[in-house]
Amino acid sequence: MKYKRVVIKIGTAILTKNGKLSKKRILNIADLVMRLKKIGIDIILVSSGAVSAGHIKLQLDKTKLVNRQALASIGQTYLMSIYQKEFYKFDITISQVLLTRTDFDSRKRSSNIKQTINVLLKNGILPIINENDSVATDELVFGDNDQLSAYSTHFLDADVLVILSDIDGYFDKNPHIYADAKIRKLVQEINDYELLQEVSPNNEFATGGIVTKLKSAKFLMDRSQSMFLSSGINLKFVEKFITGQSYKKGTLFKSKI
Ligand code: ADP
Repeated sequence: MKYKRVVIKIGTAILTKNGKLSKKRILNIADLVMRLKKIGIDIILVSSGAVSAGHIKLQLDKTKLVNRQALASIGQTYLMSIYQKEFYKFDITISQVLLTRTDFDSRKRSSNIKQTINVLLKNGILPIINENDSVATDELVFGDNDQLSAYSTHFLDADVLVILSDIDGYFDKNPHIYADAKIRKLVQEINDYELLQEVSPNNEFATGGIVTKLKSAKFLMDRSQSMFLSSGINLKFVEKFITGQSYKKGTLFKSKI
């Protein structure tokens, strides 16, 4: 088997469809997680979507930070209730781990998180991490779960970070704008100009776009770790990747050394 511990980040683009939470996509991810757990792979999820889930319940003006924090507080419980229901169908018990950037500031704090996650995994529980959006203040936030998931991968000693989004991987240009965009299968180096691109999320609630995914990949590649960007809609490529089989689509970010 290729990997023992994998962090999977699920973006807002996957969790929401036409302004609603997509239970079907969450169910499909639960099915995948069940199959990976069955063959002995430890899975840790990082889930976005709290603010957009909150907005389904209460339509506050989301351009104001304080409202977004209130929406995150409403949406987090709603989102987790859906995760609970869909994962329960596969007999998977979930747990919620809310973190802020400062939790990774010191070795002591990050090792505390690691110990908690280790106990959960040892007992077959699925940890679901999210940024503690309703309390994090501006200067302390990751602001997007791409970077939170990269830190989680590094500090929780996972073998690889898998980011699931609404695109099949990293293209030479935005595939939602250019029909002739070509997917890159392997990226061994990320240039500064790629990190300075315009932020381009594909969803009104998404925060990252491709740039934060590239920053996460760079963070991991600088530490000799790797990242795989893949479709969260068609999950067959990511399953093949994690289980070490050859896959047709997806982008692997892995440095030369
Ligand atoms: P998520 O909610 O999963 O984090 P985002 O909407 O933040 O997703 O980011 C994914 C979006 O990034 C894609 O839907 C696409 O529109 C945009 N994007 C911009 N440039 C690229 C590129 N070169 N390759 C892939 N996606 C890109």
